[in-house]
Amino acid sequence: MALNLETPLSYLPRIGKKYFKKFHKLGLDTIRDLLYYFPFRYDDFSNIIPISKLELHKVATIQGKILDIKNIRTFRKRMVLTEAIIQDKTGPIKAIWFNQPFLGKILKKGDWVSLSGKLAFGKGGRYISNPSYEVLHQNKFGAGLTTHTARLVPVYPETAGITSRLIRYALKLALPALNQIQEFLPSYIIKKQALLPLKTALQEIHFPKTKTSAEKARRRLSFDELFLIQLSVIKQKLTLQKQKSRKIPFNKELIQSFVKSLPFVLTNSQKIAAWDILQDIDKSIPMNRLLNGDVGSGKTVVAAMAALEVAKAGYQVAIMAPTEILAQQHFKEISKLLKKFNVKIGILTGSKKKFSKNTDIVIGTHALISARGGPASGGQNRVPFRDLALAIVDEQHRFGVEQRAALQKQIQEIPDKTPTAIPHFLTLTATPIPRTLALTIYGDLDISLLKELPKGRQKIITEIVTPANRQKTYEFIRDQIKKGRQAFVICPLIEESEKLEVKSVTQEYEKLSKQIFPELKIAMLHGRMKPKEKEKIMEDFAGYDQRKLNKSARQGERIRAARGACRGKTDILISTSVVEVGIDVPNATVMMIEGADRFGLAQLHQFRGRVGRGEHQSYCFLLTESSAKATNARLRAILKCENGFELAEKDLKIRGAGELFGIRQSGLPDLAMASLANLSLVEQTRKEANNLLDKDPELKNHPLLHEKLTQFHKTVHLE
Ligand code: ADP
Ligand code: MG
Repeated sequence: MALNLETPLSYLPRIGKKYFKKFHKLGLDTIRDLLYYFPFRYDDFSNIIPISKLELHKVATIQGKILDIKNIRTFRKRMVLTEAIIQDKTGPIKAIWFNQPFLGKILKKGDWVSLSGKLAFGKGGRYISNPSYEVLHQNKFGAGLTTHTARLVPVYPETAGITSRLIRYALKLALPALNQIQEFLPSYIIKKQALLPLKTALQEIHFPKTKTSAEKARRRLSFDELFLIQLSVIKQKLTLQKQKSRKIPFNKELIQSFVKSLPFVLTNSQKIAAWDILQDIDKSIPMNRLLNGDVGSGKTVVAAMAALEVAKAGYQVAIMAPTEILAQQHFKEISKLLKKFNVKIGILTGSKKKFSKNTDIVIGTHALISARGGPASGGQNRVPFRDLALAIVDEQHRFGVEQRAALQKQIQEIPDKTPTAIPHFLTLTATPIPRTLALTIYGDLDISLLKELPKGRQKIITEIVTPANRQKTYEFIRDQIKKGRQAFVICPLIEESEKLEVKSVTQEYEKLSKQIFPELKIAMLHGRMKPKEKEKIMEDFAGYDQRKLNKSARQGERIRAARGACRGKTDILISTSVVEVGIDVPNATVMMIEGADRFGLAQLHQFRGRVGRGEHQSYCFLLTESSAKATNARLRAILKCENGFELAEKDLKIRGAGELFGIRQSGLPDLAMASLANLSLVEQTRKEANNLLDKDPELKNHPLLHEKLTQFHKTVHLE
């Protein structure tokens, strides 16, 4: 039967039946999937030379006749060697393969073969070691027609049982189906962007004629992926803009009086961001804005300002934090900031509920949208919003991409008097969003940046600590604690299971409290603790004395100084990454991070931001047992760099977008993931997508593109 794009791989002759389950594991079910499974590199075997021209340790391709081939069993190493003698017009050469005894059957005396590999030298003289091979049929001799040798040979991500060789073989069978590939990009874009036609690109990405054509193919296919992302987010934005939100008129006196009430002067960035937000909510188009600023850049006060204005206009505000601790901290902080303004502030977490229809601002955790309170429950115990006009989500990167979407949707679905109005939406994050991501997967958001930290922030001394210096570091911590300071210890990241993470924290706790610092007060914190426990531990560590704090704030003292004056009961807090976000303990001066190499740079930077918040010199120690050069080079970047945005850009280049921004689970193809670091392509696709949607918002004149986009939405979930 003729292959088409939807033909299941199990139909492929000779390989289908045996391998389709394994292909399925790679996410490959149909011919189309296979054609869209791209190599991550090429072996350059294109240099075809006579045997006499082979040079030691150089990769080349030779083509000749097999004079002899046999399997040899070695005694000492218990290996099977396959040895062959190949000859062309210029003479013979030996080829040796290790542990591939089946080769003795595939390659036969008298066959014409093409071999690509490196020339080595051993006891028996010169030989080509483990070459890639294929039999040449007489009419198919030379470059271009081969699959595994004598060309740029594609290398694919493999899995047990599926080798690149097998994928190449399957692809050669699948290539005829390329005829059914339909061009979906508008031809004017192809022309303007000098893109390869889709069919050619799919051919060339697998079996390129030259390196240049491989690059062109990659550019075309990357363009497609990014272009679809762009269409998708821009359309999403346009859809949102058709909805209605409450228009909150700018209240100049109120804002001025709020700014005056602060115990500090706002930074320029804070003023600009606040202005952006207040302007946005002064429209009936829903705001969808991201407030992006480094740890300590002062996002809370900007959010509080917007919340105040909305509350005073008679509407409600919901502020959601990823953890109980943070929700409580926000509750305290915002209550304090808005003390003079007579707004009713409530809290709703797993363990606390102080919230009614009359609450103006409610601060909480997932409990705000959980099944108990959210629309999913069909309305029982629903959070009783009277008229929610602004939803603020703090540290949104802590929520997975999909969770965030659910959350946004749920908050928007919270019923209100006029069902036609949805809340304005503001997200706060300290995760620096690199520009390319701001223009792609975050492309539906407007972004405000807090570029500078409030004045007077000190530089934190950061050091990489090798196992040899661990003891010294402990002594240093002891010394700091003698001086009255406190320390954080972060346990290595264990992504697989919370249970293991709890175990590692417990072990660290045992070790530090019994062996290293028996004389100190040590506490631990992890995700499996009850909210009450967590809160108690945090309060003991932070040593907040709420009354003292309020008093000093009233007296106009700097809040930070006042906080620095209180000393928690605990000396060292051992924790999983839950302390990553938001927590403010100005008396803590040491941040010690175990297994630092497992964290992303931006994340390490966030941990570092937990210290240096008071008046004392602070330190960040990155412990690593890895001696790998690459790891250490990566860690060293953070010693020099104090800018979260630069670190995020570095992360993006080194580790790729997938791991870092929680978009691995989005279903984006690897090629798209890689393209997310390509700023110029990102900008071009954005421009083209904007242009096209301007002219044809529903893609009515581009049915194939429309279909492709629908397909894209079925597999990819960005928001
Ligand atoms: P983040 O952006 O990490 O959420 P916060 O909003 O928690 O930062 O602010 C960190 C600390 O800085 C808080 O104690 C806050 O009161 C203080 N702060 C915020 N803005 C300023 C400013 N402009 N000048 C001085 N201190 C500020
Ligand atoms: Mg914060």
